[in-house]
Amino acid sequence: MTNNNEGNAIFWFRRDLRLDDNAGLYHALKSGLKVIPVFIFDSCILKGLSNEKDARVHFIHHTLENLKTSLNELGSDLRVYFGNPVEVWKGITSEFKPQAVFANRDYENYALERDRQVKGILNRKEIAFHQFKDHIIFEKDEVLKKDGNPYTVFTPYKRRWLEVLHSRMENGDMSFYLQPYPVRKYVNGFQSLTSRPLISLEEMGFKQCEIIFPSSEISRNIIMLYDKTRNFPAIAGTSRLGVHFRFGTISIRQKAARAYRLNETFLSELIWRDFYSMILQAFPHIETKAFRPEYDRIEWRNNVDEFELWCQGKTGYPLVDAGMRELNASGFMHNRVRMVTAGFLTKHLLIDWRWGEAYFAEKLLDYDLASNNGGWQWAAGTGTDAAPYFRIFNPETQMAKFDPKAMYVKKWVKEWGTTEYPKPMVDHKAARERCLEVYRKGLKGE
Ligand code: FAD
Repeated sequence: MTNNNEGNAIFWFRRDLRLDDNAGLYHALKSGLKVIPVFIFDSCILKGLSNEKDARVHFIHHTLENLKTSLNELGSDLRVYFGNPVEVWKGITSEFKPQAVFANRDYENYALERDRQVKGILNRKEIAFHQFKDHIIFEKDEVLKKDGNPYTVFTPYKRRWLEVLHSRMENGDMSFYLQPYPVRKYVNGFQSLTSRPLISLEEMGFKQCEIIFPSSEISRNIIMLYDKTRNFPAIAGTSRLGVHFRFGTISIRQKAARAYRLNETFLSELIWRDFYSMILQAFPHIETKAFRPEYDRIEWRNNVDEFELWCQGKTGYPLVDAGMRELNASGFMHNRVRMVTAGFLTKHLLIDWRWGEAYFAEKLLDYDLASNNGGWQWAAGTGTDAAPYFRIFNPETQMAKFDPKAMYVKKWVKEWGTTEYPKPMVDHKAARERCLEVYRKGLKGE
């Protein structure tokens, strides 16, 4: 039964594709209004994707199928739309005449503007728009320096983050901020709906991809050993949860609570995620510009052929090439190798970090604007708490340290060690000198 009567609310799924421990959904279901779950495939975003087999679109679609099945079992449904969200909302409000719309906050600049426009439409129809924190543990204004300004260096940010976490401990062992939202208790709040077919990937101009998505479960062993194994790309020593955090198929609160109990280094990585989200919220200019303006004076060489060799993993530096080939084939690259490949592009080749950022954005399953931008500006030395520009990774030393038996390199670069493998495209020492010179000049404004 589709119900167009009064008393409806819409819950708008975005980066929170789960029923369990979902802040906005919990509040919607508790509101006393009958909740209609909605998802919109944003045509403005999808038309910018060049690969018809884009794995992220497939991942979302697959996740929506599962969500829909769970909602059907509860006698409800997921209504899925495809179009410009601002236009789609005009239709949704006419179709359901909701009294309120509930969603979780999205902090990217594009999303903020979209939500501003949607709010305008809703408010004109006297429909309330309620948004909640769900995607991160702490928002920008919850972890501030004593003077009320945002932190720009990670270590003191982390210290304060932990203080705030501890400031509301409950029953002596769990912070209020990590408590799950018990959505399951309120599932009778969903509107009864008949199931409608889900739009297919093909109808939106996409196809299934062959990539196998990482599991949303993480073994206790990986977390326990994380600090010892996380730097070695040949070992399955990291969680691979990135894509699930990106689309909210897991709850950050649950994973952080587990990390809190089991491994401080793992918790630290989750705090980095909050840190970069906070930086994007507090300094939105970083989406297109260097965090430190003087770094926008660097004269990048931006050689297109060299960029292409980097993209294809044919630089002649095995760790760089293995990383790029892993990314191209699987949509994933190990964090240590992301640092090395990004450092190589920006410092050895002097190619604008924004080119590399865009390439990663196209390929990474776990692509997230805040963390990707943070990682790239860190590697290029242009960001908050960045590696100083004179710290230039030697890709060969990095390989000797983190892939000493070349197991990772051999997996991804089959021709390594044969005559087919290219010679290094630049000499490390010469590239290092050139980089120091160009950065020095740029920073001096010469
Ligand atoms: P784990 O090592 O198991 O860490 C657990 C989770 O912590 C990750 O899934 C992620 O959510 C978070 N995390 C870990 N390291 C960082 C970090 N340095 N910054 C922010 N969050 C972190 N991470 C993304 O989620 N999306 C990106 O688009 C992204 N682009 C990056 C680009 C560059 C150049 C660099 C250097 C790093 C980037 N990272 C990005 C951070 C990090 O590399 C990935 O989060 C991590 O490799 C994902 O693998 P995992 O899930 O196994 O992580």
